Amino acid sequence: MIEVKNIVKKYGDKYAVNDISFKIDSGEIVGFLGPNGAGKSTTMNILTGYLSANSGTAIIDGIDILEDPTAAKKLIGFLPEQPPLYMDMTVKEYLNFVYDLKGCKFPRKEHLEEICQLIKIEDVYNRMIKNLSKGYRQRVGFAQALVGNPPVLILDEPTVGLDPRQIIEIRNLITRLGKKHTVILSTHILQEVQSVCDRIIVINKGQLIADGNADTLTYKTAGNRRLVARINGPKVDVKKALRAMDGVLFVDDMGQKEPATHEFLIECQPSVDIRKPLFRMLADRGWILMGLKSMDMSLEDVFVSLITNEGGVEE
Ligand code: ADP
Ligand code: MG
Repeated sequence: MIEVKNIVKKYGDKYAVNDISFKIDSGEIVGFLGPNGAGKSTTMNILTGYLSANSGTAIIDGIDILEDPTAAKKLIGFLPEQPPLYMDMTVKEYLNFVYDLKGCKFPRKEHLEEICQLIKIEDVYNRMIKNLSKGYRQRVGFAQALVGNPPVLILDEPTVGLDPRQIIEIRNLITRLGKKHTVILSTHILQEVQSVCDRIIVINKGQLIADGNADTLTYKTAGNRRLVARINGPKVDVKKALRAMDGVLFVDDMGQKEPATHEFLIECQPSVDIRKPLFRMLADRGWILMGLKSMDMSLEDVFVSLITNEGGVEE
C-alpha cells in the first residue's frame, strides 16, 4: 500500500531525515514513535507530498508521489501537526470548502453528514471553528482528512495539546478509523503507540532504528537477557555453578530472601535461553529452584535506551 524508499531530507547541511525506508500493508495502524526533532513530521510531509525530499521515493498504492502528486494525494487524508483550519468559518462552511478543494465526487450532503456522524461533530456543525474547544477542533481536522474517503490516513501527533479525556476519545476514534483505513500516526508518547498501533516504527535523529510490534521490538532490541532466580542451596557454590554455565555472562547475589535461599541476577547472551539447563543443573546438585522471573526490558526501557544510545547523524 505504502512504500517509502531511501528518503533523505536536508536543511542546509543538517539531515532532518537520513535514508528512511519502510513498507506498510493495507489495513495496518502504524505508529511513528520518536522524540521531538526525530524527523517524524518531515517524513509525513514528504509522504503526503507537502514537502519534497532531496532524494528517495514514496509510492502510495503504486502511484509515485513525485510523479503524480495529484493522484497520490487523492489516496491520502492528512492531518498535519497544525490542522489547516479557518477560524472564521463554521464547521459546515469549512468542510464544504475542503470538499470543493479536493474535487470530491461523492454526493456532497450525504458524504459530509456521514463524516460528521462518524467523528461526532454533528452538534457543532453550524458553529464557528474559533469558538470550538481544542478537542472539537482536532475532530474537525480529522473530518477534513476524511473528505473524499481516502484509503490512507496520515495523522501527525493527533493528540498533542488535548486533555486526558479528549486523548482517550481521539485514540478510540483512531482505532475505529483503523478498521477501514490504513493509518500512520506519529507521536512522541510511548503509551500512545502501545494502545493504538499494530506496529511501531521508531525514528530517532532522522533514522529508522526499530520496526516491529511491541513484543518483537522488545525482544529484538533487548540485548542481553536477564533473569532473577531464587535458589535454595549453599550460596557460594550456587553462584559458582551458575557462573560456570554456558551462555552466562554475569551472576550477582541479590541477597537472602528465605532461610538458606538467595536470589541471583543472571545475565545471559541474547541468543541463550538458560531456563532448561538451569533447572537441570540445580536438580542434579539437589538444589531447589524456588522462583524464576524474567527481567527483560519493557518497551519503555527499550525506547529510552534507543533514543539515548543510537544516532549517527552528521551535524
Ligand atoms: P519531529 O516531527 O519528529 O519532531 P521534524 O520532522 O519536525 O521532527 O524535524 C526534524 C529535524 O529537522 C529537526 O532537527 C528540526 O529542527 C529540523 N527541521 C524541521 N523543519 C525545518 C525547517 N523548515 N528548517 C530547518 N530545519 C528544520
Ligand atoms: Mg513533528
